[in-house]
Amino acid sequence: MALETWVMVGGWDFLDRYGVDRFLDTLQEAGVNHVAFGGTPPVEPDPKVYKAHGIAPLPPPPDILARADGVSATLRAARDRGMKVYLYGTNPHMSRTDGYHHLSRKTFLDEDLSLKEVESYWGVCVNCPRLLPTYRARLRDISRRFPCDGFLNDGPEFGYEIAPGFMGGNWNLFACFGPCCAQKAREMGVDLRAFQDAAGRLRGWLRNLSPAALKAFLETPPGLPDTFDLFQTDPALQDWLRFKTASIESYVKALCEEVHALNGRPRIGIGARTAAFAPLTGYDLSRIARHADFVLPKLYLWMGGYDGLYGTVYRWVRTLKSWNPQTPEDLLFQFVYRLFGFTLPAVNSLQDISRHIDAEHLDSGKLTHLGAPFPDEFYAEVVASETRKLLRNVGDPDRVRPWVCTSHGGRVLTPQELHLLLTGAEQGGLTTYLYYCKLEDGEWEVARRHAGRT
Ligand SMILES: [Zn+2]
Repeated sequence: MALETWVMVGGWDFLDRYGVDRFLDTLQEAGVNHVAFGGTPPVEPDPKVYKAHGIAPLPPPPDILARADGVSATLRAARDRGMKVYLYGTNPHMSRTDGYHHLSRKTFLDEDLSLKEVESYWGVCVNCPRLLPTYRARLRDISRRFPCDGFLNDGPEFGYEIAPGFMGGNWNLFACFGPCCAQKAREMGVDLRAFQDAAGRLRGWLRNLSPAALKAFLETPPGLPDTFDLFQTDPALQDWLRFKTASIESYVKALCEEVHALNGRPRIGIGARTAAFAPLTGYDLSRIARHADFVLPKLYLWMGGYDGLYGTVYRWVRTLKSWNPQTPEDLLFQFVYRLFGFTLPAVNSLQDISRHIDAEHLDSGKLTHLGAPFPDEFYAEVVASETRKLLRNVGDPDRVRPWVCTSHGGRVLTPQELHLLLTGAEQGGLTTYLYYCKLEDGEWEVARRHAGRT
């Protein structure tokens, strides 16, 4: 069965490469009727919209503003053809960095147990009291200039990585313990300090994974859901996770209500990690789906770079190995597999997993095409199983629309791997997805094939 294919394009450079008509022809020839624009909208902010919220907005750079007529014509042409148009650039992190930094960033528990602020353009905390007012003003300002059918939201989220220093701490699991979350905790009548202590205990536990302790953990029957096994022994850890989940839901609910109140009741899709990682980030997809029109879990799989599933497993095990040098790697892999609810075929050591990227790019974050492709079983088993979990969590296949991309740094998935990814996801029940890859070459051929157009 053909997959309903939505397309997202990043930036505005595609207009120079394609021109409006050829771009839209390319999409429509592949049966694509929904397009999301990832570029920063070329809008000179209207101070009046922001004034009520005490925010002084900054305009996008001149090269973006110069695109205003071209972007306007593109959106209009797409809608004239009957296509649905979505904007990603309304996300606050897509505004100018110096305009975004009035928002409070997440605070994480660092290696020395001190609290540090995240260093990232994308580091805002979901509980920052100025985030939603900023977002609200931005949505109103931009949608007035560029009418559209909906918006794609991407973050904020709590972290799910443990590698020290990774991405400026933005995805650090041991966060957030800043004033933003202290205020939210007070409103909810819970104790953030107790959560910080619990996070410290979890961190201490992960740094003392003796072979005996790990074997005992691995022999315990799994509970529900898998990811939370580790947390069942410490009630404060469960409370901390519940706090993160409630924080995210309250933000998503308010954001969705805001979007639905705009002229024409636009739709909104909410981004999240895939099923294995989403719980640690505070995204409970069944609860998110109560508010969003659809969800956009990231079926990002690559090794290296950031965001990719293989890379996350590698960083977890490498970090645990550095904390527990006496513990065999195969036990650490089993632990991580148990935590995330999947097993990478034929990967039981750091050497096994490292063959999927060349040594030079293992930790560089840069793009590479070198490294062994992932085995077919990975797509047939893990991707299909992750998809089934996503569909089960949301309960409606039409509202599960994963972001599919081939890399954010690290080893780029080959077109054949993209084909196997979509095949595995379809076997898991997927009916629609958001294609966020090249509109040419082998990748686009794969998209066309899965859309039933070749
Ligand atoms: Zn916070």
